[in-house]
Amino acid sequence: MEHFKSINPATEALIATYQVMPPEEVESRIGQAHRAFLTWKTVSISERAKYLEKAADILDEKRNEFARLITLEMGKILSEAEAEVTKCAWTCRHYAQHAAGFLAPERIATDAVLSYVDFQPLGVLLAVMPWNFPFYQVFRFAAPALMAGNAGLLKHASNVTGCARAIQSVFEEAGVPEGLFSHLAIPGSRVAGVIEHPLVKAVTLTGSEKAGSSVAAHAGKHIKKTVLELGGSDAYLILEDADLDLAAEVCAYSRLINAGQSCIGAKRFIPVAAIYDEFLERFRVRMAEPILGDPFDRTADMGPLARLDLREQLHIQVLQSMEKGAKCLLGGQMLPAPGAFYPPTILTDVQKGMPAYDEELFGPVASVIRAKDERDAIRIANDSIFGLGSAVFSQDLARAEAIAAKDLEAGSCFVNSFVRSDPRLPFGGIKTSGYGRELSRYGILEFVNIKTIYVA
Ligand code: NAP
Repeated sequence: MEHFKSINPATEALIATYQVMPPEEVESRIGQAHRAFLTWKTVSISERAKYLEKAADILDEKRNEFARLITLEMGKILSEAEAEVTKCAWTCRHYAQHAAGFLAPERIATDAVLSYVDFQPLGVLLAVMPWNFPFYQVFRFAAPALMAGNAGLLKHASNVTGCARAIQSVFEEAGVPEGLFSHLAIPGSRVAGVIEHPLVKAVTLTGSEKAGSSVAAHAGKHIKKTVLELGGSDAYLILEDADLDLAAEVCAYSRLINAGQSCIGAKRFIPVAAIYDEFLERFRVRMAEPILGDPFDRTADMGPLARLDLREQLHIQVLQSMEKGAKCLLGGQMLPAPGAFYPPTILTDVQKGMPAYDEELFGPVASVIRAKDERDAIRIANDSIFGLGSAVFSQDLARAEAIAAKDLEAGSCFVNSFVRSDPRLPFGGIKTSGYGRELSRYGILEFVNIKTIYVA
């Protein structure tokens, strides 16, 4: 029997093994989710909200337990894990409070006696999720999906199976119909079989472009809707009139949060020539500050990466960039065993053709790219296959806002701040960063039948 292993990335100790589910178990969970959906779709939105409020309360009550599980399985520091659980509760409450408004029927005047748009659930949805925010990524799918009347199946990243089980338990304890939300302990190779199941109506994936492309291709073959939240290489532009202390602080924070393993982490830093040296020195100081250590230790600012193989992959990208001419200003070496620790790293002189320019670096490695001026900075920012987030630093707010709104090719553009997700705002990317949106009203509308009713 095949097993998934949960390994503590700070110590390399085995935490638990979980049996991979046999096909009969998966079939049974799909059937159960469908039966639960048939009940759930008849429950009013205001009733559904009570279950989501209850889920939020459970998340708050068990915050410490869940945060410890997150830290144990994927290595983020405890304070970040606690904040993650709190954000899940917020997201549940946000949809509990606003779903009725988001899904209110829309009257549209036509020649009919009555014509309007209604929003109906689709049925069983499959969510393929990553390990980097092992609770929040799931809740930002589940809260709107369930509030809209759908059922959810979770295929979580196999290194965070403990989190997958805990999330299922939150919904069970909240009292939703049995099987309405359950996790499938299966490898990626068995996702195709779930997608093509007639009772599965749509799929959302958060993860790499490779996984996204494979899932979307299969879903396309079976004419099922997909939402894809994929990688990013967010560009942060630092203009000559920026507050450089603020820019350096925010850039380092955004690059190092979650040990650099965030899709919307700042990844490419593009100071214009006029302030290049001044910014770089401030940025170097900020990047050198964090204390690496046991993520359970409250004095540590940064834990390990989530897996040894991910650290290996990151280090190869760093070395290949250096072979092609990038200079290492800070960090850049693997730290001694045990644990998948990688230090904050700055690469300068980064240019097109290097992994640090062309690819996503999913760890605490900053790519610094010098721009001649504002136009050149915008050109470099957009010279990427990705289009998830971006940020501009300038004290001329009108100028920065215009760049954010008109010039940058990304799903979110922030001014004088770091890109973050917020249940009230839509989240998603363009280009290879994916399509569709999560969160806000746009997120809940992704998995509903936008139905026209016409009474002649
Ligand atoms: P990943 O390797 O693509 O894994 C993500 C999920 O997809 C896991 O559950 C994985 O299962 C599954 N999977 C992998 N290959 C698959 C395939 N061929 N068919 C079906 N499922 C497959 O990504 P990751 O390394 O866990 O996560 C990091 C990536 O996610 C980064 O690129 C990051 O930028 C992106 N991300 C994006 C967002 C966003 O909102 N845009 C948010 C967070 C992360 P197994 O674990 O069993 O392989």
